[in-house]
Amino acid sequence: MTDPFSLKGKVSLVTGGNGGIGKGIAEGLAMKGSTIVVAGRDREKTAAAVDEMRSRFKVKAMGLSFDVCDTSSIESGIQKVLKRYGRIDVLVNNAGVNIRKMPQHYSPEEWDTVMDTNLKGAFLCCQAVYPTMKEQGKGKIINIGSMTSLFGLGKAVPYACSKMGILSMTYSLALAWARDNIYVNCILPGWIDTPLSVSARRDLPGLGEFVEERTPIGRWGQPTDFMGVAAFLASDASDFVTGEYLRVDGGWAQHTNTVSFT
Ligand code: NDP
Repeated sequence: MTDPFSLKGKVSLVTGGNGGIGKGIAEGLAMKGSTIVVAGRDREKTAAAVDEMRSRFKVKAMGLSFDVCDTSSIESGIQKVLKRYGRIDVLVNNAGVNIRKMPQHYSPEEWDTVMDTNLKGAFLCCQAVYPTMKEQGKGKIINIGSMTSLFGLGKAVPYACSKMGILSMTYSLALAWARDNIYVNCILPGWIDTPLSVSARRDLPGLGEFVEERTPIGRWGQPTDFMGVAAFLASDASDFVTGEYLRVDGGWAQHTNTVSFT
């Protein structure tokens, strides 16, 4: 029997795959043999991540200078991947930004920056890979949400809206493209130790300790915590799973749903 978790022969594109959670995901896909396309804006970070994929996992890898807020950058990036590898089997919509402040203080431009990156950008990437996945007869799309896909967050209204939106988009695209054999699922990270959350700890004093105390597993998540989950959702092993979300949160949301003194 062939290994249903294997990603050998597949090509996976990870937006923001050059650092943080995206890099952890790219490592998980590379671990199972996928060719990796690291798509980000920072060329140096991207080049370093590509080198690491090749040397650690012995897989093919390429970097893309890619801005999810720029339609022409998305289109030309996808064409480059198709020219080089001829297919795209997995799209991970991981690129994301946050601007933290009280809701009354956002400018319209700040709202747009967050929504355009986290939600519209992800949608445009889905649209861009759709013709290829349909023609191939199969595809896997993994969107990255957040605990704010489930709960509100007073100091991050646009971010929370974008992450509820990406979950809603996951549900709708899963329905729209199920008969094309394109699977669309969502990973909801809890608090993960990355450059994004370093800035959260700077902006919100006491957050570091609060998360440790409040997370049932008792620690911050690490990018490597996403390796296995992403590999599963990208692989044939999840072929009856679509329109689903999977929390990778050390039990955070479960804690919110219960009255617990442990
Ligand atoms: P990082 O800041 O470490 O990574 C964000 C990534 O997004 C970077 O690699 C960055 O690449 C990329 N990116 C940002 N804007 C764009 C853009 N316009 N085009 C292409 N790439 C872009 O954050 P995390 O790893 O923490 O976040 C990854 C995802 O996980 C995000 O969607 C975030 O919302 C989500 N998340 C994170 C949580 C956490 O606790 N850390 C919790 C819940 C969700 P570059 O530097 O090249 O621009």
